[in-house]
Amino acid sequence: MKYYDKLIFELSKPGRTGYSLPEVCGKCAGTDAIPATLRRTEQPKLPSVSEVDVVRHYTNLSQMNFGVDTGFYPLGSCTMKYNPKINEEIAAMPAFGGIHPLQKDVPGVDAIYKGMDSALAAITGMKHFTFKPCAGAHGELTGLMIIREYHLSRGDSKRTRIIVPDSAHGTNPASAAVCGLDVVVVKSNSNGLVDVEDLKPLLDDTIAGIMMTNPNTLGLFEKDIRQIARLVHAAGGLLYYDGANMNPLIGTVRPGDMGFDVMHLNLHKSFSTPHGGGGPGSGPVGVCDKLVPFLGVNVSGFSGNFGVILRAYAYILMLGRQNVKLCGRLATLGANYIKESLKDCYKLPIPAVCKHEFVFDGLINDGAREGKEGAATLDVAKRLLDFGFHAPTIYFPLLFHQAIMIEPTETESKETLDDFIEVMRRIAAEAAQDPDILHGAPHNTPISRPDETTAARNPILKYWDACAC
Ligand SMILES: *Cc1c(COP(=O)(O)O)cnc(C)c1O
Repeated sequence: MKYYDKLIFELSKPGRTGYSLPEVCGKCAGTDAIPATLRRTEQPKLPSVSEVDVVRHYTNLSQMNFGVDTGFYPLGSCTMKYNPKINEEIAAMPAFGGIHPLQKDVPGVDAIYKGMDSALAAITGMKHFTFKPCAGAHGELTGLMIIREYHLSRGDSKRTRIIVPDSAHGTNPASAAVCGLDVVVVKSNSNGLVDVEDLKPLLDDTIAGIMMTNPNTLGLFEKDIRQIARLVHAAGGLLYYDGANMNPLIGTVRPGDMGFDVMHLNLHKSFSTPHGGGGPGSGPVGVCDKLVPFLGVNVSGFSGNFGVILRAYAYILMLGRQNVKLCGRLATLGANYIKESLKDCYKLPIPAVCKHEFVFDGLINDGAREGKEGAATLDVAKRLLDFGFHAPTIYFPLLFHQAIMIEPTETESKETLDDFIEVMRRIAAEAAQDPDILHGAPHNTPISRPDETTAARNPILKYWDACAC
């Protein structure tokens, strides 16, 4: 029996325990003082298990999950890099972890916020930051509210439309809608960049601004950004920078110098907080000089996710001015190395030099022939799990039908990248010979292909929902 075949409740044997405590009466323990209405009337439904049952059960469960601490995790757009453990130690220090959110006058904490503000200002070319937003999308909403407030403060109430490129991350149009702005889509050209000719006719006095990601979601640098900034500013709009993926540019180019007015960073991507599974995050928003008066928009209580900000500060100070620049360069080198090593097996729709990530559009030879269905991107992703690699991001961005978006990050060695390349080549060869090997993958994981829709729509999250007891 494998430990993960059973729930901890199913391992339970009446009378088995992992501790021994002396019997105490309610009077001695003081529990008699609790009013009867607040006391339990029956024993809690806890499993009766030994200590070794508990340790093995949970240790085995932890091994079923894939994490960046167990293997390479090239999930494009997510920056799943290895995060130095010292950041965790610092964030867990009682002097920081024990502070109550309502506590005032904690000079050390103030100094950390100030230090982060000036570090991020130096890295981005913005004037000041607010640390309240707790995610990238939350930062986008904050930034858009600042843009709206700015226009309203000038009596410019017609500006209710925001331009978003068709390659944008899905959160961009969603945040704009939450902010009450109407989204206008600007197309990408055949090089995967914002089409300046398509942009020009969209610019009028109803435009609040444009949201851009640079490098964009294809991992490409928007080299016309200065011209775009001039055009949008001339029309009275502002430029919003989605800096969730700023890592390749850190220390090389600053959004402020490109002409952006407002931006957010994802500290949980670029600045080393482990993430995934929904949190915790931090999406600080920076603004240029003229928008500083609007930085106080109220988007959350307290001062954001302090633990995440602290990790990011430790990371920035540890790397220092010189080394922080290396991160982006190494991430860029790794991405281009993988791209060039695999482009004879996987379709590369835009063969340009990429930044920290790039997109393939499925297999060149997917093995499809008379009566045999070829291997799709989903099959490649599933097969990778058999070799101990997490799948890249798939079917995003939506510009291609079979998108595979690969981001190796700066923390992987050449040996790891070579292993990944070898496995991707092997999978391509399998597909060409017999795509059914891929259709049935993964073969070596505890579960193979769950019904993802049902799992997402009707998740069973509690043991008591799953059984009739
Ligand atoms: C991850 C990401 C976001 C959203 O960040 P969350 O913290 O998940 O809300 C926005 N834009 C881009 C480009 C991203 O990669």
